[in-house]
Amino acid sequence: MASLSGEYATSQQRSSFALIGLSANELEQFAISHGEAAFRGRQIHNWLYVKGVKSLDEITVLPRRWRTSLEERGVKVGRLNEIKRLVASDQTTKLLLETSDGQNVEAVGIPTNHRLTVCVSSQVGCAMGCRFCATGKEGLQRSLDSHEIIDQVLSIREVMNRRPSHVVFMGMGEPLMNCDAVLSAIRCLNNDLGIGQRRITVSTVGVPNTITKLAESSLKVLGRAQFTLAVSLHAPTQETREKLIPVAKSYPIQMLLQDCRNYFSLTGRRVSFEYILLGNLNDKDEHAHQLADLVGGFQSHVNLIAYNPIKEEQFKRPSKSRIRSFQEILEKRGIAVSFRSSRGLDQNAACGQLRRQHAQRS
Ligand code: SF4
Repeated sequence: MASLSGEYATSQQRSSFALIGLSANELEQFAISHGEAAFRGRQIHNWLYVKGVKSLDEITVLPRRWRTSLEERGVKVGRLNEIKRLVASDQTTKLLLETSDGQNVEAVGIPTNHRLTVCVSSQVGCAMGCRFCATGKEGLQRSLDSHEIIDQVLSIREVMNRRPSHVVFMGMGEPLMNCDAVLSAIRCLNNDLGIGQRRITVSTVGVPNTITKLAESSLKVLGRAQFTLAVSLHAPTQETREKLIPVAKSYPIQMLLQDCRNYFSLTGRRVSFEYILLGNLNDKDEHAHQLADLVGGFQSHVNLIAYNPIKEEQFKRPSKSRIRSFQEILEKRGIAVSFRSSRGLDQNAACGQLRRQHAQRS
């Protein structure tokens, strides 16, 4: 976490110090370090997370002289600017947000009757280069700071005028390549925005030597690791996986599975396996049996997703009957499985598409 006092040359190696992400205690310390009473910190906390202010100037409960002095020292609330909004017929809402250094990130709000899930990005772009993903085509610009992740949840809350109930780290970027900021964001979402850890999912494509580290860091930073770890498997064999996910070449599938077992031992949380069904590539009955062989016998859950087409790749979306047959085989083999239907397909729902379109036009 950034220093709470002294000069704010930078909290995140950029030119300002963001308040979003700080806890009530930290904000009290922040106020005290500036010669103000501790309750001023609690006031800031309320205006940041309950009222959702976007600038220090809006926190009118603070003395003007202090607001001005903080601004002069580069202290900011740390919110992003909305630059584009798309709302699908099912009300799925996608935002393109701009950071203070002009980078664009996507956040998506996915509503149902009983929940509002926010899909957040953890990086600008992504270095993993998965073939089925629009974000992977652009490479990595940089990782996001925790306040830039938290803002996405606040922005969706404002735009959709509804309290988010769930957060999934399934937007742009590989969260485990930005573990510290992701864990800080989870701490804030949990403690300051009241989103239970069990309603938060961190999705990884599987980067060597990061899964066990995530479990250990979570226990250290959060005191427990109750969020769901979702591992993007997407193939039942090493050979097919390597065709889809470049990083798989340095991470044998059996080693990945072993790390998932270790994760379960360390945290007590079952792992969820994500599996994008790509027509004729990994969606046949034999693939379902191979998948059952691979993940059977340990605490896990398989989430099937039908491919969301992107322009640059020729992959096909499987038919409904193919998906049903694949799911039935897993069920008969005793695998906990569910199918996640695509939302907002009519509004460029695939991860990274909105940002790419915006970049191509500007
Ligand atoms: S699927 Fe995820 S990890 Fe893979 S390139 Fe896209 S954003 Fe990165």
